[in-house]
Amino acid sequence: MYKKGDSETYGELKPYLDRLMALHTAQVLFGWDQQTQAPKEANPRTSAVIGILSGEYYRTVTDERLKTLKEACEKDAGLTDTEAAIVRELGDTMEKLSCIPEKEYRQFAELTARAAAVWEKAKKEKNFEAFAPTLKEILNIQKHFASCRAKNGEKLYDVMLGGYEKNFDMECLDRFFGRLREVIVPFVKKLTESGVRIDDSFLTGDFSEEKQAQIARFVAGYVGFDFQRGVLGVSAHPFTMSLHNRDVRMTTAYNNHVDDAIFSVIHEAGHAMYELHIPDELTQTLVGTGTSMGMHESQSRFLENVIGRSRAFWVPVYPKLAEVFPEQLSGVSLDDFVRAVSKVQPGPIRTQADELTYPIHILIRYELEKMLVEEDLPVWDIPEVWAGKYEEYLGVRPEDASEGALQDIHWSQGSFGYFPSYALGSAFAAQFYSHMRRTMDIDALLEKGDLSPIWEYLRENVHRYGKMKTSRQILKDATGEDFNPQYYIDYLLEKYGGLYQVSA
Ligand code: ZN
Repeated sequence: MYKKGDSETYGELKPYLDRLMALHTAQVLFGWDQQTQAPKEANPRTSAVIGILSGEYYRTVTDERLKTLKEACEKDAGLTDTEAAIVRELGDTMEKLSCIPEKEYRQFAELTARAAAVWEKAKKEKNFEAFAPTLKEILNIQKHFASCRAKNGEKLYDVMLGGYEKNFDMECLDRFFGRLREVIVPFVKKLTESGVRIDDSFLTGDFSEEKQAQIARFVAGYVGFDFQRGVLGVSAHPFTMSLHNRDVRMTTAYNNHVDDAIFSVIHEAGHAMYELHIPDELTQTLVGTGTSMGMHESQSRFLENVIGRSRAFWVPVYPKLAEVFPEQLSGVSLDDFVRAVSKVQPGPIRTQADELTYPIHILIRYELEKMLVEEDLPVWDIPEVWAGKYEEYLGVRPEDASEGALQDIHWSQGSFGYFPSYALGSAFAAQFYSHMRRTMDIDALLEKGDLSPIWEYLRENVHRYGKMKTSRQILKDATGEDFNPQYYIDYLLEKYGGLYQVSA
């Protein structure tokens, strides 16, 4: 009789898992390098190396011996809970990869690599027509892949959504986005018509990169980022990646809006803390990372928006900022600053959106993706439908395609079903926040500069599980309630109703 953790079958599986982990780690590290330090001309040659690594990954996952061992492990009662979860995750990965022939995978990878350049050029030239044929090709392949993966008559868009967030299908998302459309869309209208104007002009100006970097490092450390186990770099678009729980890297970007760099760092630190808090037992395994894209965004958005844009957070931090930028911030009070960083301004660009209008950008993409995948909307009609929805929901119309349907890279990469996780992240964050407030006085802690009880809550309820639980399970176990979008609606109405003195 074996005791748990002594499974011989799992012992045989382990070298394959280690190999997958090593290949994955190498790819992640190359990804970091390409976006931060690699010289421009390195790209074609380095891409060839990355291609070989991903081919090795594919072959390891689809190896016949691995399949046999995985099936034996599934029947083995001697596995620990962690081992069983790793085997489950391996099964998911194998299923996703093996239902599509390697040749089609490679072709798709080549297509999206080409598409990135086509998209970039079309965006620069503000010409949607130039991108449309490529987009149509990508969409058709993604529909084909989804139909290969679909089980028991599952709808194609549900399959795509499930690839990013398990158990959040159209039925659930229709309810979620429906509430945003019914409540937040008219609320934004009311708020912009309220006549209340917030001055944020002092956030734009001549802020030296060196001083911004100094503040970025200070803020990262202040919120808990550990520089002995992490790196803060610079890249065009801020991101976070993790090799394991002793090496988590994040970036920010510096421009003439000082708030961009600061809030990017706070946002990325939210992602980074999730990965730094993955327990030793799970790190470098298939379950040793954040459970989903939406849950990851919940952590970054919680730290950036709920915590980082609150007045209480800035009580101990603002004096430091004012000290670094004495001229730029002279005469700007703590309250002026806090109001400025929460200003609502409907606009056409998602990545520049404020906290309140952001989910409406996602609502529009969700409705469009649904039309493209489920209702066969021709891709050539996208700009018209896009502009119409922006006009109706946000009262703005894109001037050209670069501010419209060409603004995001996601579709050129075949990432349909990805956008909803951004809005779900904010909604998860609001549900955690409401629950957290019942057990601690968050504002009082922030005013004292003590974030540790907040981290303790998140580590205990979210981070330590890695991928052992789905986001829906985590929410339920932590807050005692299934996903409930009402917390998010209430949070937005309370915060922005207060700031602009309007009610829903
Ligand atoms: Zn993020």
